[in-house]
Amino acid sequence: MLNLPYDKIVEIIKAKSGLSEDDINDRVKDKIKQLSDLVSREGAAHIVANQLGVSLMNIAKKLKICDIREGMRNIEVVGKVSKVFDMREFTVGEREGKVGSMFIGDETGSIRVTMWGEMAENVKKLKEGDVVKVKEAYTKMNNSSPEIHLNEKSILLINPEGETISDVKTNLYSRKYLAEAKEGEKVEVLGTIVQIFEPRYFELCPDCMKRARQKEDGFFCEIHGKVEAPRVSYVFNLVLDDGTDNIRVVLYKQQAEELFGKAEQEIVSARGDGQKIEALKSEVFGKTIKIAGRIQANPLFERQELVAQKVSGEINPEEETKRVEEAIVVN
Ligand SMILES: [Zn+2]
Repeated sequence: MLNLPYDKIVEIIKAKSGLSEDDINDRVKDKIKQLSDLVSREGAAHIVANQLGVSLMNIAKKLKICDIREGMRNIEVVGKVSKVFDMREFTVGEREGKVGSMFIGDETGSIRVTMWGEMAENVKKLKEGDVVKVKEAYTKMNNSSPEIHLNEKSILLINPEGETISDVKTNLYSRKYLAEAKEGEKVEVLGTIVQIFEPRYFELCPDCMKRARQKEDGFFCEIHGKVEAPRVSYVFNLVLDDGTDNIRVVLYKQQAEELFGKAEQEIVSARGDGQKIEALKSEVFGKTIKIAGRIQANPLFERQELVAQKVSGEINPEEETKRVEEAIVVN
């Protein structure tokens, strides 16, 4: 089944059948009732479309960037260009190829667009701030983020009439050396862990995930009062050095799990156990890792910190040398 959101299905049925939105919604509700709630709203809308002879196949899927996933076909996306890379030429066996890429963003996120063959020539015309509409595009994964790909059958419109993008939500991280990284920037850095500190564990209220503080007779949440079974969370601090400078890195729960490649349970079980903590620390000490995050000031200690958003220990040194001055998307 096509992965179309409900509103989009209704829009297509409305356009092709001439029925009103209320009428379509009623038909969908009836269908759900008829099937004793065994079908989702989207599923029921598909059945209604079928019964009306409205085809949902081959409908270009107009998507917001946050809805783009791996393996999509025939998608349509509008975005504002935030970065354009030079075209590269390459040879595979007898064949010569060209590839170009750019980043585009809308109010829901940013994504890389890779253009193959003659499509790659577009990078010569594109500039930052252009609004582009891509059609008949497909998606692939790269560095664990989806990318839009354009081949010679795809369409790229530069600054088409009637298309505007006001707000761009940026989840774009620029690859930087630490010596060049400035406060407030979203950066990706590649460095070696030269120091790792004792972790700090703390309790959370399972209802609101806010801090639960210990009092004489248990843990208390400001909103929910006494917490019977608090969740445990943790924060790790380390020092990363990339040869140009070093920085203190703050890793919260998810990023700590990415760093150690371990689940919550295992990290929690090390709490208060000196030996287990040492074992955890020595597993990553001296390791080269890649961290995407935001550079923030810590006024208390008058220093900058990198608050990690994504940690990756799978490093391919050859790939990495190419990535300096590039950018990545973190979802
Ligand atoms: Zn609470």
